[in-house]
Amino acid sequence: MRDYMIRGTAAGEKIRAVATVTTQTVEDARIRHTTSATATAALGRSLTAAALLGAGLKAGQSVMLRVLGDGPIGAIIAQADAWGRVRGYAANPHADLPETPQRKLDVGGLVGRRGTLHVTRDLGMRSPYHGSAPLISGEIAEDLAAYLASSEQIPSVVALGVLVGRDLHVLAAGGLCVQVLPGAAPDAVADLEARARRLPPITQLVADGCTPEEILTAALGGMDPSIGATSPVAFQCGCSRRRVEEMLWGLGADELEALLAQEGQAEVTCRFCGDRYVLSGREVEALIAGLRDGAPAPAVQ
Ligand SMILES: [Zn+2]
Repeated sequence: MRDYMIRGTAAGEKIRAVATVTTQTVEDARIRHTTSATATAALGRSLTAAALLGAGLKAGQSVMLRVLGDGPIGAIIAQADAWGRVRGYAANPHADLPETPQRKLDVGGLVGRRGTLHVTRDLGMRSPYHGSAPLISGEIAEDLAAYLASSEQIPSVVALGVLVGRDLHVLAAGGLCVQVLPGAAPDAVADLEARARRLPPITQLVADGCTPEEILTAALGGMDPSIGATSPVAFQCGCSRRRVEEMLWGLGADELEALLAQEGQAEVTCRFCGDRYVLSGREVEALIAGLRDGAPAPAVQ
């Protein structure tokens, strides 16, 4: 099954929710970044969170999540756009920790319990909207819920889960975000939190074969839910050879001359997806000649 997400509302549109299954997206990220088991969970939860935050974006808009904790994984960056294209990376993808005494992956320990969660929404305006909040536990779902409540003033229940097999493969991943909008009943947040506690973990729902619709219905059951549009989710990076050429062009002729003298070629690895681009010495020379001649910069498609 391909990953997708679904949006819905409940309680007369006073509650909105989005649920997603991201098993393949997180598995793709794991393969690209060769993440450790715990790093797969930390990056996977972050990617899933970005997908949830990206629900409802319009063409050209994007959202970026930066989890900057003091744990061994270092910074985690995850980005999603209006088409459900998700990409991201962790500074130290091979960092790992022993399981907790409850035999769970120690995501909080790997991320760190002190630090900041940053969310940047680029809505195509002059400047992006940026907010941040201190990390609560480093487990990411709780941190995102705290951010949404404090920085965006939207009480939210967030669940994120990644189940990693003994052979490191991603067995199940998904997420749920339920938000209480102005005008909802005063006890709506407490009610939703109680419901969320009664739900099985997201990883169990996904591993049992639940669809995003079923996860959404389980979370909103009895609240007159209305299931909305679905949209695809996939790990997909926007990098390309043209973008690499444009980036090299931006360095200027002198810098490229120095690079050519030192390396004999230009090699660029995309941090987000790990794809590697190599421009031969001749191709770099062509860029330098273009810069010296005042040719227009390479157009990005
Ligand atoms: Zn890339």
